[in-house]
Amino acid sequence: MLTASLYLLILAASAAAVLVMAARHWRARDEQLVDQINALLPQTQCAQCTYPGCRPYAEAIAKGEADINQCPPGGEAGIRQLAALLDVAAKPLNTSHGEHKPLLLAVIDEQRCIGCTLCIQACPVDAIVGAAKHMHTVIADECTGCELCLPPCPVDCIDLVPALPDGQTAPPDYLKLTAEARQLQRELAA
Ligand code: SF4
Ligand code: SF4
Ligand code: SF4
Repeated sequence: MLTASLYLLILAASAAAVLVMAARHWRARDEQLVDQINALLPQTQCAQCTYPGCRPYAEAIAKGEADINQCPPGGEAGIRQLAALLDVAAKPLNTSHGEHKPLLLAVIDEQRCIGCTLCIQACPVDAIVGAAKHMHTVIADECTGCELCLPPCPVDCIDLVPALPDGQTAPPDYLKLTAEARQLQRELAA
C-alpha cells in the first residue's frame, strides 16, 4: 500500500515537473515572438494602435488579439514586415487608427509658451526640455512627430512641421532605427 502511494506521489510530481517545464518553454517561445514583432514596430509609443505602446501591441499581436494593420507610423512597409514574420497575408492599413503621414517634427513657439510642463508629461520619448514657468523646446533628433504633446498645450503653441525637406521621405525603418539609437545612447550614458 505504502509502495503504491509512493509510486503515485512520484508520478504526480513528475507530471507536475513536466507541466512546469512545458509552461516555461511556451512562455520563452511567446516572449521570443513578442521580441521579434516589437523589433519591427516604429517605437514612437504613440498609442494609435489603441495599445499603450509598441510592446503591448506586439504582445496583443502575438496572442492573436490584435491585427497586424493597426500601426499608422509603420504604414504599409511595417505591415508587410509583420506579415512576413507571422507568415500571414499582408493587408491595407486600418485607417480607423490614423493615416500614415510623412515624418513630422513638433516645434514650440517659445514666445507663447507659458512653461506649464504639460507637453513634457505627454511626450513618450522625452523629446521636450524645459522647466516650470520657463519656455520649453523640442529636441529635434528625439521627436517622432507622434502629436501627443499637442492636445494638452493650453495655449496651442505647438505646431507640427515636416521633418524633412520637400520631396524627401524617410526610409521605412527610420523611426525604429532612431529609437534604437536613442536607447543605445541612454545605455552608454548610464
Ligand atoms: S508606433 Fe505603432 S505600435 Fe507603436 S504605439 Fe504607435 S501605433 Fe502602436
Ligand atoms: S515632442 Fe511631441 S510630437 Fe515629438 S515625440 Fe514628443 S510628444 Fe511626440
Ligand atoms: S504645453 Fe504648451 S505652454 Fe505648456 S510648456 Fe508645453 S509648449 Fe509650453
